[in-house]
Amino acid sequence: MTDEIASNLARVLATIATATAKAGRKRDEVQLIAVSKKQGTEKVRAAFDAGQPLFGESRVQEARAKVPLLPGAVRWHFVGHLQKNKIRHALPLFEMFHSVDSVALAEELQRIGDEDGVRPRVLLEVNSAGEASKIGFSPDALRTHMAALLALSRIEIEGLMTIPPLAPEPENSRRYFASLRELRDQLQREFSVPLPQLSMGMSNDYTVAIEEGATMVRVGTAIFGQ
Ligand SMILES: *Cc1c(COP(=O)(O)O)cnc(C)c1O
Repeated sequence: MTDEIASNLARVLATIATATAKAGRKRDEVQLIAVSKKQGTEKVRAAFDAGQPLFGESRVQEARAKVPLLPGAVRWHFVGHLQKNKIRHALPLFEMFHSVDSVALAEELQRIGDEDGVRPRVLLEVNSAGEASKIGFSPDALRTHMAALLALSRIEIEGLMTIPPLAPEPENSRRYFASLRELRDQLQREFSVPLPQLSMGMSNDYTVAIEEGATMVRVGTAIFGQ
């Protein structure tokens, strides 16, 4: 198991290196987030021992159980849907929240961050395909709410995140990744703010995401298996 995770990790890192080089980007422009949701701590430990420092979890309860069992040097990002009543528990565990999907959630992060004296680092989740069933800001809603979000002085908005519709072909994701980058570029110009991070790309499509400008790829099954 340990060997398999180490070799999977090496393969993903090599693929990232190739994809960044092909895209004319620097290797250090892309961070790998090993998404360890539903994986046991021994698997996280194996990836950490193989050199992976950064992990993603999508449930606060699960992270609260796991984080204390792993070395303090392990770094954690939250990639799931954050419930407001979990914020206080989540803030000390995670260095970044990838999936702020409403103004109400951002306001609650502001309020609790203020009370607890911390400055949550966040990405805004965009529903780039406009799917009715999906969470996240539509591009239009984000343009509408951006000024209000930027006025929340406690939270550091560092960029955007998206999950494209599930598709068998990685190429199907390309236009959603490209539109996230274009939306980011527009927001940077319109609001004169830096939004350097683009969190996009999962096991099946992270090379395409890197070609389209991803700075964080969230990879689970390609490292840990199903
Ligand atoms: C589970 C998950 C991933 C990882 O997906 P894989 O297909 O296993 O790589 C990435 N992002 C989010 C938000 C997830 O929930």
